Amino acid sequence: MSKKLIVAIDGPAGSGKSTTAKLVAQHLGYLYVDSGAMYRAITFLAIRSNVLNSNDEITKLAEETDIELKFADGKTYVFTNGENITDNIRSVEVNENVSIVSKINGVRTPLVEKQKAMSNINCGIVMEGRDISTVVFPNADVKIFLTASIERRAERRAKEYKEKGIDVDINEIRKNISLRDKIDSTRKLSPLLKDKDAIEIDTSKITIEEQVEKILKIIKENIKKF
Ligand code: C5P
Repeated sequence: MSKKLIVAIDGPAGSGKSTTAKLVAQHLGYLYVDSGAMYRAITFLAIRSNVLNSNDEITKLAEETDIELKFADGKTYVFTNGENITDNIRSVEVNENVSIVSKINGVRTPLVEKQKAMSNINCGIVMEGRDISTVVFPNADVKIFLTASIERRAERRAKEYKEKGIDVDINEIRKNISLRDKIDSTRKLSPLLKDKDAIEIDTSKITIEEQVEKILKIIKENIKKF
């Protein structure tokens, strides 16, 4: 595969985006970017500085913070102004507030700009999120939209927490996912939606391996076009 492609993978929480995108990127030797980690980073900083009630203060954080994502050993490490906050961005509190923070225009504008700039590299890129096909890379070579039933998505998240040794109530997870879905897909600015050019894959009843296989097949078919 000589042409370096931009692959956009969007979908709601728990649809299998991260695991699939990581494996696809690994398979192709492409850069993997978890755009949600950036929104989570700003949310964590806003909580820590106690400014969640001020859109202006949150915007300032998004504009002035240097966010760096490093992918190593299957994990995205997040640094803000050089500080490693990787272990802080997936807390219950961040989960509960991230969709509210992500609605703010002043947050999205600088983050989208940083995400766009990440494609200026010498290799292909697989970026996952909510608006990658529609806003960040509208000219992406391959656009995938992953979906799955709410039950299946909640089960996956519960399993992930359990594997990390975190005790969780699946009903709480289901509630958080549904609420985030609602806020993310009804917001005015770059809502979560399937782009007209995106290929939808329902992951409710297929394995991760099958998801990866399907996407690699779609990418290979696209590469032939060049
Ligand atoms: O992907 P993840 O579930 O970690 O994303 C957390 C939140 O960040 C989403 O629920 C959404 O509110 C926001 N997000 C976004 N646009 C993206 C990626 C994530 O608004 N491209």
